[in-house]
Amino acid sequence: MNETQVSPELIQKTIDFHGHSCPGLAIGIRAAEVALREVGRSSDEEVVAVVENDNCAVDAIQFLLSCTYGKGNLVHLDYGKLAFNFYRRSDGKAIRVIGRPEIFGHQDDEFINLRKTKIMRDLTGEEKERLKRSTAARINQIMEADLDELFEITPVQGPIPQKAQILESLICEACGERTIESRTRRFLGQTLCIPCFEARENKILMRE
Ligand SMILES: [Zn+2]
Ligand SMILES: [Zn+2]
Repeated sequence: MNETQVSPELIQKTIDFHGHSCPGLAIGIRAAEVALREVGRSSDEEVVAVVENDNCAVDAIQFLLSCTYGKGNLVHLDYGKLAFNFYRRSDGKAIRVIGRPEIFGHQDDEFINLRKTKIMRDLTGEEKERLKRSTAARINQIMEADLDELFEITPVQGPIPQKAQILESLICEACGERTIESRTRRFLGQTLCIPCFEARENKILMRE
């Protein structure tokens, strides 16, 4: 691997954190490397990652960059894109890292085909072996490639996402559970949590 900033030990720890080695995690490790090169690692909430997918790759971002949901410096946008944005709070430097379609878009290769087959039926022993081999080959391909070969890296304009705010909690008048104020809904003069609000809304819809 060239220009790496992630040691083999750290890669192993990332795999342990995620639970298995897979191409998705490999993509995340490489995207994290871009972030380390361009904006560095988050010691606390210094670096904010805004990820546009929720696949295996995100676990590598969390582990290697210390961007976590709990701290609020990992933001998921449900766009279904192989794209990661990294913001450095100290100087506002921000980059967008997007997987190149010519690398990640081969829908016709053996790996993709076998994965599709696996969803529909059990693979034969021979197919399982082939899937194992092509998975390993794909992981290798991702881990060995130059970062700029894998990703298009562009600057990002616009504001840095805000730090997690401490908000008031209110008591839901239906279930009695404490709920962050911004997540409560008003319904016929009552303050409700989202599940209780949706339950009432559905009841009304059913009656119509
Ligand atoms: Zn995975
Ligand atoms: Zn409730």
